[in-house]
Amino acid sequence: MEHRCSAAGPAALLPHRRFQADGETYVYAAETGGLFRADEDVRDALSALAASADAAVPPEVVSDLLRAGLLQRGGRPARPGRIAPPALALRTLVLMLTESCNLSCRYCYEACEAHGSPPAGAGGTAREMSAETFLRCVEFLLDASGESRSLSVVLFGGEPLLRFPLLRAAVPQAMAMTGERGREISFSLTTNGTLITDEIAEFLGRNGISVCVSIDGPPEVHDLNRPYGSGRGSYADVARGISRLMKYRNGRPLAARVTLGGGAADVGGTFEHLRELGFDEVGFAPASAAEGSPAALAEEELDRVMEGFRELASRYESDVRERRMPAFSNMTQILALIHRGEPMPYPCGAGIGMLAADPSGTFYPCHRLCGVGDALGDRERGIAVDVRNRFLDRARKRREPACEPCWAKNFCSGGCYHDAYLRQGDLFAPSTHYCRWIRELFLLGLQTYVRIQNETPTFLDGPVRRKGDCMKHLKPVNRKAKAIGKDSGDPPVVEAQGTIPFMHTCTSVFNPGYEIDWTGSTKQLCTPIETDLFGTTDMYCWWPGQAPDTYNNPDWNADCTRAMKDWMKLKVVKPEW
Ligand code: SF4
Ligand code: SF4
Repeated sequence: MEHRCSAAGPAALLPHRRFQADGETYVYAAETGGLFRADEDVRDALSALAASADAAVPPEVVSDLLRAGLLQRGGRPARPGRIAPPALALRTLVLMLTESCNLSCRYCYEACEAHGSPPAGAGGTAREMSAETFLRCVEFLLDASGESRSLSVVLFGGEPLLRFPLLRAAVPQAMAMTGERGREISFSLTTNGTLITDEIAEFLGRNGISVCVSIDGPPEVHDLNRPYGSGRGSYADVARGISRLMKYRNGRPLAARVTLGGGAADVGGTFEHLRELGFDEVGFAPASAAEGSPAALAEEELDRVMEGFRELASRYESDVRERRMPAFSNMTQILALIHRGEPMPYPCGAGIGMLAADPSGTFYPCHRLCGVGDALGDRERGIAVDVRNRFLDRARKRREPACEPCWAKNFCSGGCYHDAYLRQGDLFAPSTHYCRWIRELFLLGLQTYVRIQNETPTFLDGPVRRKGDCMKHLKPVNRKAKAIGKDSGDPPVVEAQGTIPFMHTCTSVFNPGYEIDWTGSTKQLCTPIETDLFGTTDMYCWWPGQAPDTYNNPDWNADCTRAMKDWMKLKVVKPEW
């Protein structure tokens, strides 16, 4: 029996994206983050309801649609009123060790011109962080992070290796201090790679400091984007630095971060080149630059970037199929987001799980926002609660009205504040100039996710479970959908996106560069992807080197009799956070 969908009042379809993969129809529900395989009845119902809210739809299909968060009775959910900002859940502190830099990158100059400050090291009064401030900031992180076990300090600049003497002195002290307090902090460093000597590489390797090198591709591309102030290209020095990092890295993966500026849209060629140099992970982000700037990718270049991303996604699938570690780190991050499937009311962890300290120890929501907008406090007085609340309140409201009906809002949530600032002069304007590519990228992620789940489900979360599903027409695909699909009595489902989930990523433009990984730690940093190094340390880790200990997890390798062939059968052990 069919009945009018509107039997209990008007019904509204909620934001979703229907797509094809592997010859089937799938639907992603933005309000819940669930990803489902849809049968013919659902396809027909979605088409009919799109045409008329009054369409006749079988009751059990209506029930599935309601449960999945695809349909709302009584119209669209009311927008939540004022919602208390999420508590500070500090896990990552970015330390801006210096404002100086020995390079004069094209897009950096552009960005600095756009917000009226000189580029780092360009003759202004660049500030430097003292050892005392460094240690006080680490102390603040320890004090403000509660019982969190996974904390990160990101060493950033300017060029942080201009301050190697500071690092050499302060990092061991900070490690000793955290050890005395029974805590653990991982350090990571984002560098332009030009200053790496044997001594520096050995220090980084010995202290387990993860390194992400900013490199834009082969010499002709890199030297155009990342010259010294004299105009001389920096590629040769970076290549030398990379070979030193390789020598001392002690098996740690090495990540490359590529900034895609105008005239440099060949992501396939760049990826290939960086893999040949030995990078384990490569992540891309478009340069932040004002509208129309030659440093920014033009529209047709963004289209070429997307084509390149499609090729890399297909290569990613082959890598998974053939049990190789995929290196395209943007995709790794997108897959993790889809898998987790939590609604995301903020675009990133800025001011929530992450803060950045400028050289004086003043806190800002993220490293790119240092000196932009209001400070959120400092190492001495702590967090200015009212300023932080105001920031997050405005951040949340920026999604209205443009982003609320968008199916990609859980991936993007209005995009990077800093990018909006550069483009539109307003931190809290949604970055709608990138919508088309953001949606294309996440659609590519959804399609890739489905194909991987179908072919190699163990890559993401163990075999897809079918027992206990209580929906007939929608088959859960991602983890969130499985939770929705379990028969737990009352149909949920559409919760206002008021509670903030754990993870806050950096959506720096359409690179989900991730300031913080989905667990809420970083090990990751955006801009881009200081992070991606760290994709290897979360529960999706495929690196055999990240082995759980057999004392606490005695059977984690029970199904793996021949490591060379069976290592995919190693159990995933979720760390406690
Ligand atoms: S900025 Fe565009 S893509 Fe991002 S959530 Fe808003 S409308 Fe969607
Ligand atoms: S997306 Fe990244 S760079 Fe942009 S505001 Fe958030 S943390 Fe900062």
